[in-house]
Amino acid sequence: MITAYHRPQSLDKALELLSHPNTFPLGGGTLLSHRQSDAVEVVDLQALGLNSLKKSGKDLEIGATATLQQLLEDSNCLVALKSALKLEAPLNLRNAGTVAGTIVVCDGRSTFTTTLLALDAKLTILNPQSKTENLGDFLPLRPRGLITSITIPLNVKVAFEYVARTPADKPIVCVALAQWPSGRTRLAVGGYGKAPMLAMDGTEAEGIEAAARNAFHEAQDEWASAEYRQDVAATLAKRCL
Ligand SMILES: Cc1cc2nc3c(=O)[nH]c(=O)nc-3n(C[C@H](O)[C@H](O)[C@H](O)COP(=O)(O)OP(=O)(O)OC[C@H]3O[C@@H](n4cnc5c(N)ncnc54)[C@H](O)[C@@H]3O)c2cc1C
Repeated sequence: MITAYHRPQSLDKALELLSHPNTFPLGGGTLLSHRQSDAVEVVDLQALGLNSLKKSGKDLEIGATATLQQLLEDSNCLVALKSALKLEAPLNLRNAGTVAGTIVVCDGRSTFTTTLLALDAKLTILNPQSKTENLGDFLPLRPRGLITSITIPLNVKVAFEYVARTPADKPIVCVALAQWPSGRTRLAVGGYGKAPMLAMDGTEAEGIEAAARNAFHEAQDEWASAEYRQDVAATLAKRCL
């Protein structure tokens, strides 16, 4: 149950409010406003101007409260990221759900977070000091703090492939591959577990199929066997390449 709603006009005020116990940032509220037994206070971020999308050199800086649909419609959004965003949530949820909120609550079936992981996205987090954290380090622990922006590179080639029961369903297996001009190649896989997994971060693409297989060696659940996921992931990784 939400017991108090705050809408601060400055980051300092937001941080001060968030230092109180049981007080959480409110993004789009699509999850946080669900009925829950715990009493929580929420700090609405919408007056803080954190929803801009800005190209900065070779990077795209995505404000934490930019909605998924806002990012999808941005002219700088990478094509593969658009495909992943369309699968993340239907239009109504994309119009409300924010980029940061989606990262904080994602599970392994999040196509958007899988693609961000391949892109080696960086989060700027106020806790209350500002620090930059790789998404890959953030996901296992998801420490509390206010995410203010997410930065992704634009000078990369990215591909995204998936297999699902129906074209619009959340994937059973998805694979995102990013390649930098230097040859650096990152492969992230999703469709299973608590968070997407980084399967490979190498100086070249060699071994990518084996890496895709290895990532899923224990990935058995009600949707698919580990063997199935391993075979599909290897094929999708090759297809991305
Ligand atoms: C019908 C329906 C279906 C859904 N299906 C799925 C699904 O299949 N898979 C799934 O993963 N989710 C699902 N969701 C959950 C949710 O819609 C999405 O994950 C959404 O994108 C969350 O974003 P939000 O901005 O609405 O987050 P909110 O609900 O506002 O917040 C979610 C969490 O993120 C934290 N948070 C928000 N912004 C920040 C920030 N800037 N810094 C730090 N923490 C922050 C909040 O404190 C809260 O803990 C569903 C929701 C609905 C209503």
